[in-house]
Amino acid sequence: MALFNWYHASIKHKIGGLFVLLLTFLLFAIVYSGYKIKQIDHEMRELAYLDIPLSQIMRQLEFIELEQHQQFERSLLAGKSYDELKRHQQLAFQKHKMKSLLDKAVQLIEQNLSQNKVILMPAKHQQVLQEISRYAQQSAAFEQHLEMVAGRDVISAAERNRMETLADELEAAGTNIIGHLESVTRQDAYYTERHEKDFLLVSILLGVGALGLGLFLTVYIVQIILHRIRRIQGEIHTMTSTLDQGDGSSELDVAPIQTRDELAELEYEINIVMSRLSVEMTSRARVEKQLLALATQDKLTGAFNRHKWEEQIQLQLDLAERGGYDFGLVLLDVDYFKRVNDRYGHQVGDQLLQLLVAQLKQRIRSTDMLFRLGGEEFAIVLPMQNGDSSYQLAQNLRQLVEDLREEDLPEFTISAGVTSYIAQDSEASLFKRADMALYQAKAQGRNRVILLAHNE
Ligand code: GH3
Ligand code: MG
Ligand code: MG
Repeated sequence: MALFNWYHASIKHKIGGLFVLLLTFLLFAIVYSGYKIKQIDHEMRELAYLDIPLSQIMRQLEFIELEQHQQFERSLLAGKSYDELKRHQQLAFQKHKMKSLLDKAVQLIEQNLSQNKVILMPAKHQQVLQEISRYAQQSAAFEQHLEMVAGRDVISAAERNRMETLADELEAAGTNIIGHLESVTRQDAYYTERHEKDFLLVSILLGVGALGLGLFLTVYIVQIILHRIRRIQGEIHTMTSTLDQGDGSSELDVAPIQTRDELAELEYEINIVMSRLSVEMTSRARVEKQLLALATQDKLTGAFNRHKWEEQIQLQLDLAERGGYDFGLVLLDVDYFKRVNDRYGHQVGDQLLQLLVAQLKQRIRSTDMLFRLGGEEFAIVLPMQNGDSSYQLAQNLRQLVEDLREEDLPEFTISAGVTSYIAQDSEASLFKRADMALYQAKAQGRNRVILLAHNE
């Protein structure tokens, strides 16, 4: 279902979705890096503010102990001659110094433990704390003995051995603490280093992942767009070849381009097809117009044909039947046309017919319609005109033809029968009246116009 939706999603949603995915991944990488940096920072702080100062304190303690030991040896060798006051003062000073150092160490560990700053091995630090307090006790016991022994003139061998043992034990305890601290510091450093390495590795992996995802996205998006472009191009080519089959000789006004940009190329091809389509549509409109002319006009003269006549006469009758509308009808026939053909030939006859139509068209109104009903017989439909005005027009036309003088063509005349719509007229009754009028015009000697306004 999800794949189905994905396939049908818009390009905007697809690209947007993939970018959200990439950004989420990057956000995760940034949050992870931040968290790791903070953790490593805590560990470094632990090393810097706790483990290293502790080691330094213990080294100082070790040094004091060594001093004490030397002093003890010296007092045994020098006996009474050794300045007692000085010795007591030194002992007190050392005792104070050791106490303050131990206090400092304890305070340092306790403070860090209570503030939860010890992330690496808090149990071991706790253990060191206990060892220090034990060491403090041992140290106090040793100093007590030392003070006691230092006040005497003679020190027995047993006493001396006991002092030696106490000193050794104290030294061992000190060394033990230092050893422990060193191991804690070393392990802390080791963990910190390992975390740094892990962090580096994961950061590299995340970076490579983001790069891969970004590359995939780019390639994917480019592929989608290229795929669509190729499909559209394919469709354009099919369309172009279809157009080529119709008319290959289309002149296009699209400037050629030189680009490697697929979208610009597609735009160019679409422009070409659009231009070709527009040319095609124009020529189609022209053909339609021609077809319409062929269907409604007479080929020789350009007057409307019989088909159009039937359509128009019916329309005029329909309009007139509704009332308040009148129209006139003139039937025209060239007088003695047979003779023209016989004397001058069929071609001249044709030219004479063309001349007649051109002259008549010029004289009638744009709303009037001229039809060739057959041979040299014509009809003129005059919308919104009565019998008298139609008669007048027919007279004018007759006069016009009579006065016509055309080079290379013989003079000729026309006769006309005129009528107008009478209620309940049909095409047949109307035509019959006009035809009768024409017949009368011919019968009365030709080159005349007869109006029949009523049925006889
Ligand atoms: P009138 O009408 O005065 O009685 O005499 P007319 O000689 O005109 O008589 P009719 O109507 O019988 O003759 C028509 C002639 O017109 C017959 C035919 O040869 C000729 N005609 C018909 N159609 C055409 C055409 O398209 N071109 C030419 N040149 N002649 C045609
Ligand atoms: Mg005739
Ligand atoms: Mg005739």
